[in-house]
Amino acid sequence: MTLATAYAVAAPDGRFEKTTVERRKLGPDDVLIDVKFAGICHSDIHTARNEWQGTSYPCVPGHEIAGIVAAVGSHVTGFAVGDRVGVGCLVDSCGECENCLVGSQQYCSRGATWTYNHKVPEAVQDGGITMGGYSTQIVVTQGFVVSIPDGIALEQAAPLLCAGITLFSPLRHWNAGPGKRVAIIGMGGLGHIGVKIAAALGAEVTVLSQSLSKQDDGLRFGAHHYFATADETTFRTLRGHFDLIINTVSAELPMTKYISLLKLDGTLVVVGMPPEPMLIPAPSLIGARRSVAGSLIGGLPQTQEMLNFCADHGIGAEIEVIAADRIDEAYDRVLRSDIRYRFVIDTATF
Ligand code: NAP
Ligand code: ZN
Repeated sequence: MTLATAYAVAAPDGRFEKTTVERRKLGPDDVLIDVKFAGICHSDIHTARNEWQGTSYPCVPGHEIAGIVAAVGSHVTGFAVGDRVGVGCLVDSCGECENCLVGSQQYCSRGATWTYNHKVPEAVQDGGITMGGYSTQIVVTQGFVVSIPDGIALEQAAPLLCAGITLFSPLRHWNAGPGKRVAIIGMGGLGHIGVKIAAALGAEVTVLSQSLSKQDDGLRFGAHHYFATADETTFRTLRGHFDLIINTVSAELPMTKYISLLKLDGTLVVVGMPPEPMLIPAPSLIGARRSVAGSLIGGLPQTQEMLNFCADHGIGAEIEVIAADRIDEAYDRVLRSDIRYRFVIDTATF
């Protein structure tokens, strides 16, 4: 057993406090990781503040984890002490269902185990609830650990473990590439990495942001066009324009207006998860055989593929590294979209 220092919230309106969590004794398939950096995903905020309901307290969020292997179990083959590694949103799955067998562990039909706020046996995590990466150490079974290529700094890699794969996976699934017009709605933590990846895949990339305040950044990240959605002419100009739109927005949006931007057979993929249900009028789809789809992070093989792709294309997250005593302030700033573009907690400050 290892005692790790962590930061937890005790209630939906609580502030982050320093605490300790017990990490399980290293099993034969386990990897003990010294967490160096943990990104702050908007999902951490939804969960810590119980916006999706069902949060267990105390809650230690964090599923954008980058660190160094500190110890390995006797059956671990792919990792050695000192390796640069990452852990994302998942720490286990059944490994036997048809989805797990094709490497789509996030869609495990028996339910994958989430990195934090997930009920597990006491033997897996003391307290019976998984505790995430806002922590100095974590123990994860080897199949849920990925290698961080040397080309990416650990702090810039951390956000790729959730934000990166959440955009890479649908961009690949819906064949973003040369000749495809792709729009990213919302240029926040997820969106800005989506712009970089879509551009690197060769697509014609458009950002649909609330205002033009981040336009220079968007174009620097590889976008070809940048429009403000507060300007109604945007929706007239781009009507019927896109093959693929990825909606990363954490709040409710007027879906009909965005769906109208899809051309014949176009698809709008929802990855943002506001607590409110979406209203989608049937004619908005029927009128041009359009689809609305959803996508959840990505499986372990694709997460490794994404990290390798990002290293090959010089892609990392744009980050602001913070000390642990600034997590509450960072949450408030994410809610005000006052971050360029991802907060990353430096665990050396624990
Ligand atoms: P974020 O950094 O806060 O970015 C969200 C962006 O959405 C903002 O930067 C802003 O972009 C835009 N936005 C925010 N409020 C808006 C509003 N009221 N109207 C219009 N646009 C608004 O959040 P994130 O970490 O990227 O996460 C985004 C969402 O994805 C969250 O709901 C999160 O839970 C979800 N998520 C889903 C998955 C998955 O697997 N599907 C994985 C991770 C996260 P502009 O300023 O450019 O408009
Ligand atoms: Zn996330």
